[in-house]
Amino acid sequence: MQIYKVGGAVRDRLLGKPVTDIDWVVVGATTEEMLAKGFRPVGADFPVFLHPKSGEEYALARTERKSGRGYGGFTFHASPEVTLEEDLIRRDLTINAMAEDDQQNLTDPYHGQRDLEARLLRHISPAFAEDPLRVLRVARFAARYAGLGFSVAPETLELMRQLSESGELEALTAERSWKEISRALMEDQPQVFIEVLRECGALKVLMPEVDALFGVPQPEAHHPEIDTGVHTLSVLEQAAKHKQPLTVRWACLLHDLGKGLTPEEEWPRHIAHEHKGLKLIKAVNERFKAPKDCQELALLVGEYHTHGHRALELKPSTLLELLQSFDVYRRPQRFEEFIAACEMDARGRKGLEQRSYPQAEYLRGAANAARTVAVQPLLEKGFKGPELGEAIKRERLKALKAYKEAAAA
Ligand code: ATP
Ligand code: MG
Repeated sequence: MQIYKVGGAVRDRLLGKPVTDIDWVVVGATTEEMLAKGFRPVGADFPVFLHPKSGEEYALARTERKSGRGYGGFTFHASPEVTLEEDLIRRDLTINAMAEDDQQNLTDPYHGQRDLEARLLRHISPAFAEDPLRVLRVARFAARYAGLGFSVAPETLELMRQLSESGELEALTAERSWKEISRALMEDQPQVFIEVLRECGALKVLMPEVDALFGVPQPEAHHPEIDTGVHTLSVLEQAAKHKQPLTVRWACLLHDLGKGLTPEEEWPRHIAHEHKGLKLIKAVNERFKAPKDCQELALLVGEYHTHGHRALELKPSTLLELLQSFDVYRRPQRFEEFIAACEMDARGRKGLEQRSYPQAEYLRGAANAARTVAVQPLLEKGFKGPELGEAIKRERLKALKAYKEAAAA
């Protein structure tokens, strides 16, 4: 048997990027031979194995053919006769279809190296269209390598457009989509992921609620960029520049969905968009089965981001309600993430990227003030049950009044 490094490891070495996980392809071997060498099979009937020591993935060279809708609709054929070239042609992009032996001899039948130099994400063959996930993968790679000057080849974008129109994207499972979406959001330029999806018509299928924001105006005084879609992309861009975690990036993407529901006669104002957007945020959350922390933060940021921006003007009682809604006493981290998302929202406006955001410190201070209220003295006074809860709230309100006065002084 011959063993080759394939895919991302080869691509990233040639790009001079750090290689994290290595995928291997094995030519000329049978399942029995792999098992005899101590490799552990990954699935019952899939020719992929884990190395007994390194845990890295070794796949038998295989060919694939589409036999139905979705990813389940694939039949593959793995045998010792399948050649390296045959295995490489079933892959998505030319730059992902290079292999290298242990002497670093490159096998590059589909000119991945040429496309690396041309900075092009280009599909290998029309078989690209057999797996709709590739639309998301290409958009993700575009987000990752935009900084190096990569873009999607026009003919690949055209194929992605056809795939998006065909209805095949709807066959993707939530799990496969979320894996791509979450990885793409963590790339250096996550806004490029959304842009590419929009360009090929996939955004309209996957997240029509986000797609609908393009062409919706906002008041120029607050939003010099005017367009809500453009604003959303800038917020995402800021979130990546500030190295925010996935929860914050997800919340940034969804925070203004309500603006897509505003009747045109109300433009450019968006009255109560925060509340109107919640059902859309919920729908997107559920469509992709986003993890609980992402779902929660997106809903909270959707509902309260305007409160965040107006923090310094909020009445102490409103401030208290905000802190209670976030349960800042037990969930301090989540409130920090809310503050971060609000700040990214404020910075994601044309020409205002560098403006300071004093609301952040103010909100932190308010949370601290409310947190310093001690429960023990109230217990000693004999408060119990719901009355204790009310007493704590009263004390917190007092603390917030004092905090606001001190901050104003
Ligand atoms: P990353 O750095 O994100 O891991 P990668 O290129 O290694 O990038 P993997 O998902 O690890 O991506 O897949 C390894 C290789 O398998 C890819 O380079 C590609 O050749 C092939 N591949 C993976 N998923 C698909 C797919 N859905 N369709 C076609 N080829 C795929
Ligand atoms: Mg990989």
